[in-house]
Amino acid sequence: MQPTDILIIGAGISGLLCATELRHAGRSVRLLDKGRGLGGRMATRRMAGGRLDHGAQYFTVRDARFQRYVDAWLEAGVVKEWFRHLPEDTNPAGYPRYRGLNGMTDAPKHLARDLEVHNSQHVTGLSRDTDLWIARTQAGDTFLAKHLVITAPLPQALNLLDTSGMRYANGATDALLAVRYERGLATLAILDGPSGLPQPGGMKVAEGVLTWIADNQLKGISADVPAVTLHANPDFADEHWDSDNDVRGPRMLEAAKPFLESNVVEYNCHRWGFTKPVNPWPEPYFQNAGLQLTLAGDSFGGQRIEGAALSGIEAAAAVLTV
Ligand SMILES: Cc1cc2nc3c(=O)[nH]c(=O)nc-3n(C[C@H](O)[C@H](O)[C@H](O)COP(=O)(O)OP(=O)(O)OC[C@H]3O[C@@H](n4cnc5c(N)ncnc54)[C@H](O)[C@@H]3O)c2cc1C
Repeated sequence: MQPTDILIIGAGISGLLCATELRHAGRSVRLLDKGRGLGGRMATRRMAGGRLDHGAQYFTVRDARFQRYVDAWLEAGVVKEWFRHLPEDTNPAGYPRYRGLNGMTDAPKHLARDLEVHNSQHVTGLSRDTDLWIARTQAGDTFLAKHLVITAPLPQALNLLDTSGMRYANGATDALLAVRYERGLATLAILDGPSGLPQPGGMKVAEGVLTWIADNQLKGISADVPAVTLHANPDFADEHWDSDNDVRGPRMLEAAKPFLESNVVEYNCHRWGFTKPVNPWPEPYFQNAGLQLTLAGDSFGGQRIEGAALSGIEAAAAVLTV
């Protein structure tokens, strides 16, 4: 395969927006993702005829650069406003929380239409030969590029970079290694009737093992099948990281019971190794210009889809300067 100007590891929102900006600037870009689908932690799953967002639940917009993309997605019918405030919010006016029309993967899928994305390509080794990066994947393929952008959560990105045997951190190794993430557990459940959750179908939980309950039917992405998403708090996720699903699932369902009016007919659990960075890097990206290497993602933008998006946009601008 021909080398590209830029190879991006990770087709989450940061990688996809980075690629979009670079492509608009006339550069050749290729994205690799280990997942079968797109969007990383903006993840939607089908289960027993229902559709459930099991990672990020919605996104917000504060910055004009991200707003321009969101306005285009609204116009194209890719995303829509889900709600402006939750019953427990103190600000009654609120502000828009957006969702994908059919799930959180919709915006990533929309971005990917104009991009070269290779799914199921888990990059396991990196090296450099003269002025090219070489990425090797578990599938046995090799991809070459002048500049490498990695958007995986920083602990994963650093593990991958270590395979190159290079000194890539410009003396910042310890500070980069210090960025840590919380872990998460999601339980997805199909119900035998309406959940009974109040509008808009999303609810923060202040006490106990859960932090969030969402009714994907009320949300509007699972029209025919009542389906709820439960998120556990980080302590419960740590405690039950290695538990069987038939241990952690029922614990989370029990905690949701007071809020639900119907019975669970089927459930599944999903582990999230990286939910949000506890101490994100203070800059929107990290670059080693000499090595033609840029790191981006929510490790650099912090805790939200918008942070990851802005990191991708700013990383693209930085790539264009070297
Ligand atoms: C449970 C949960 C709930 C959340 N809720 C919200 C919310 O409601 N609102 C909000 O704004 N944010 C929320 N977030 C955070 C938000 O999802 C992230 O900040 C954002 O999606 C991160 O985007 P990203 O592009 O930086 O990373 P990711 O989406 O993680 O993308 C990185 C990609 O890199 C790929 N990758 C990693 N290593 C390799 C490799 N070696 N080879 C190939 N590919 C690789 C991964 O498969 C992944 O697709 C939530 C996150 C979780 C997990």
